[in-house]
Amino acid sequence: MNKPSTKNIAKNTALLSDKAHSKDAVAPPIYQTSLFSFKDYAALESAYCGETDHAIYSRVGNPTVALLEEKIANLEGGEAAIAYSSGMGAISNAILGLIEQGDRVVAVKHIYPDTYRLLKSHCGKFGVTTEIVEGDDLKAIEAKLPGAKLLYLESPNTFMMEEQNLSTIATLAKKYGVITLIDNSWASPIFQNPIEHGIDIVLHSAGKYISGHSDVVAGIAVGPKKLMDDIKNNTGTLLGAKLSPHEAGLLLRGLRTLPIRLKQHQENALHVIKKLQKHASVTKIHHPAPNKNEHSALKGYGSLMSIELVDDINIPAFCDALEFFKIGVSWGGYESLVMPAMAAINRGGEYTTVIDFDVSDRLVRLFIGLEDKEDLWSDIEGALEQAKIK
Ligand SMILES: *Cc1c(COP(=O)(O)O)cnc(C)c1O
Repeated sequence: MNKPSTKNIAKNTALLSDKAHSKDAVAPPIYQTSLFSFKDYAALESAYCGETDHAIYSRVGNPTVALLEEKIANLEGGEAAIAYSSGMGAISNAILGLIEQGDRVVAVKHIYPDTYRLLKSHCGKFGVTTEIVEGDDLKAIEAKLPGAKLLYLESPNTFMMEEQNLSTIATLAKKYGVITLIDNSWASPIFQNPIEHGIDIVLHSAGKYISGHSDVVAGIAVGPKKLMDDIKNNTGTLLGAKLSPHEAGLLLRGLRTLPIRLKQHQENALHVIKKLQKHASVTKIHHPAPNKNEHSALKGYGSLMSIELVDDINIPAFCDALEFFKIGVSWGGYESLVMPAMAAINRGGEYTTVIDFDVSDRLVRLFIGLEDKEDLWSDIEGALEQAKIK
């Protein structure tokens, strides 16, 4: 394995270059196979007993998937990684693999909606309780830690893009023997490496920036070998949400341009933010750049943000007037996207984060893609003009 190093983008790029593959292929081969055969009984038995790394069956392990796992573990500075068929596959396997009946979980506010539902609704059915705390309230976090099993973070978090003080929180959690997990999708492994700050397990929705082309749904968990083995043994093999080799191949391709894509996403996002700050129809910008956190662990800025708009902007009309920004969930690919909180609020339902955490119906999430930054700003400016209630 390469030495973990995440000091800067150039180093990360170096980490992404491949060793020689079979028949000197420069792109990693995709082992599109469900099973692997053995030359004799002895080879089968030693693979079964974990004495060799001979793959057995692709639900459990596959060389293309293993290469992706190794690369992401390197980028995050973690000992081991497991790739899943979705971000929720990674999140649910990690949580369900570590908790037991009656455990208590502490989670910060504004975590990804399906993570919140998993904890509150599904885990609740098995006697696991989840308490929600403000991510910037260290006293409140510490008060909940004694006796807790997991502390679940997301920094920056969903819709509000608020950061948590990773180093201090990790130190507190260690003091009380609580395992820390973080959803690091917003920053990607290029712009934030929580393990450097003492966090135990890093989770990614890998279909976002890591894939980068809106053509894959995938997830990955990175952490200490001991905890990753626990997750693998307790849930991995049983829940069966492993990533497919073909999708691992697409993610390996995405990784090669991840640093330069993120550089451009950052540049485009900062351009749009500068313009939004001067626009009379925008009351708030939720993004770490204009809301500097002195304890930030970020090495750069992702391009997912939310804005809040004055009452005399018709939000559905604003979404409809945009041309470059497509209306849709998810993010992380080439194309810019718009997602109004209003749609989730109007859908309603039990354990809905936008309702339980009081997200304003004036909030609109924007994902700034890789189109020309001037085009993107004129699109927003024009749509705000068209959506004004006369
Ligand atoms: C999309 C997303 C997820 C879920 O990932 P899936 O691949 O859709 O399961 C988790 N966390 C964050 C922050 C996300 O944006």
